[in-house]
Amino acid sequence: MSNNSNFNGDARNLNNHNAFLGIARQLLRPFIPMLFLTHLLLGLISFLLVKEELVGNQLIILLLILLGSILPDIDEENSRINKWGRILGKVIAFFSKHRGMFHSLLFAVLLSAILGYVWSWYYGIALFIGYLSHLIGDALTPMGIQVFYPFLKFRIKGPIKTGGWMEWVVRIILVVLIVKEIL
Ligand SMILES: [Zn+2]
Repeated sequence: MSNNSNFNGDARNLNNHNAFLGIARQLLRPFIPMLFLTHLLLGLISFLLVKEELVGNQLIILLLILLGSILPDIDEENSRINKWGRILGKVIAFFSKHRGMFHSLLFAVLLSAILGYVWSWYYGIALFIGYLSHLIGDALTPMGIQVFYPFLKFRIKGPIKTGGWMEWVVRIILVVLIVKEIL
């Protein structure tokens, strides 16, 4: 009987703990959107590392890299970029599964090549670099990505859980690297 009540007590504590984490996450969401920020940081460090090599308007190059760094998640209904895409976002999320075609190297190359052809090859490369930084970021998570979709279906995965402590460590490392590059 006492074991049972302990057990119930533990379960209740665990539920309280989970509820607390859930509420904390909801409260923090507007300020630190999970993963979105990490992808932007990855995009920013990519820009700082390659900006000397790309010819063109530096602001456009920066914006294209940042766009590439968040664009793949347009296939995810609840992502910011999907909401910004409005009707286009809805259509894409309906036809593509999350981390399907939009998280493949093939799509990154095609989209960047089109942009490069119609605008500037350097701008195409900028979008590709941002896109690649997103794919690398997602490849480090347990869900992983099928980077060679649709040719090969295997997933590249990593240990960094979305919203977990390791993602925070990655963010801090990225911020340190960004500050070091800027200074
Ligand atoms: Zn993604």
